[in-house]
Amino acid sequence: MAGGQATPKGDESKKKPMTAEEFVTKAPLYVKVPISFYPPREISFDCWHEKCGKETSWVRTDEVVVVGSGSERGARPADYDLKSCSYICIKCQHSVLTIVYRDMQRGKTVVRPRLGTGMSSRPSTPPASVDVVTEVMKVGQYPAPSVVLPKDLERNLGEDAAQFYRRALVCRNNGFGLAAATYIRRVVEDKTNELIELAAEVAESHQLDEATVAAIRKAADSTVYTRFEDKLQYASTVFPDTLLVGSYNPLATLYSLVSKGIHGLSEEECIAIADDTSAVFDYVFAKLRADMTERNKFVERMKRLNQPDKKPEPSPAE
Ligand SMILES: [Zn+2]
Repeated sequence: MAGGQATPKGDESKKKPMTAEEFVTKAPLYVKVPISFYPPREISFDCWHEKCGKETSWVRTDEVVVVGSGSERGARPADYDLKSCSYICIKCQHSVLTIVYRDMQRGKTVVRPRLGTGMSSRPSTPPASVDVVTEVMKVGQYPAPSVVLPKDLERNLGEDAAQFYRRALVCRNNGFGLAAATYIRRVVEDKTNELIELAAEVAESHQLDEATVAAIRKAADSTVYTRFEDKLQYASTVFPDTLLVGSYNPLATLYSLVSKGIHGLSEEECIAIADDTSAVFDYVFAKLRADMTERNKFVERMKRLNQPDKKPEPSPAE
């Protein structure tokens, strides 16, 4: 088994295993995924058809087929582990997603019979050991996964960073985790000053005191901090508690992701880092910005509403 010797440190690096639905919709190619897999009956997926253009429900069109079976003269498939299945969008009944995958490893799992109810004293059936797939690898997907960025993100990134971002996605979808992690870090690096300015503006929109806002802005000062990781780290320490997302400091999370060494990590581990980094980055860069714009608009409106009606100057008594 691969990677048996490298035990991840601490619980934070322990990843929840991918679900079967995530395997169908998100798994990159040529990466072994350690899950007990059978394609789910229904999935949610972004439909590209003009009738839909959003996330819709999709249903599996048929049972899984072994690739190469049903060939002329009933020739045996060369590889019984290579399988395929398709899904169709329920809404438009038009878009079809097909994946090809290979069962890489099987193991035993113990199935315990359900406990009977009542007072039956009959001996229960002993637990049975059954064969299950324990590791799968996606080897094909059609159409190719989209690398179109959401409009807001694309616009806010600008041409160069958007290009790096798309390349990160292409690498990720093809299992080149190390390249994906490097590209997405470059995006964070190029956008660090903007991220910090954004955090300062968000603090302003929450009417936080000037000193707090100034402390955040100071992080972007290139004469003090030259490495983008250092800037992010400093910004995260002055990020106000009132702006935490849940109980998380998004800048601190981003800092911990980009400062993690990727030396010696497997492609799978790098893909996980690239995915986490882009998720946090997207949140701060797109979501937080949109929230702030909304908030500012609302505050402006409230200000106007709450302004005391200007009474016309009383004309001097005559
Ligand atoms: Zn559709």
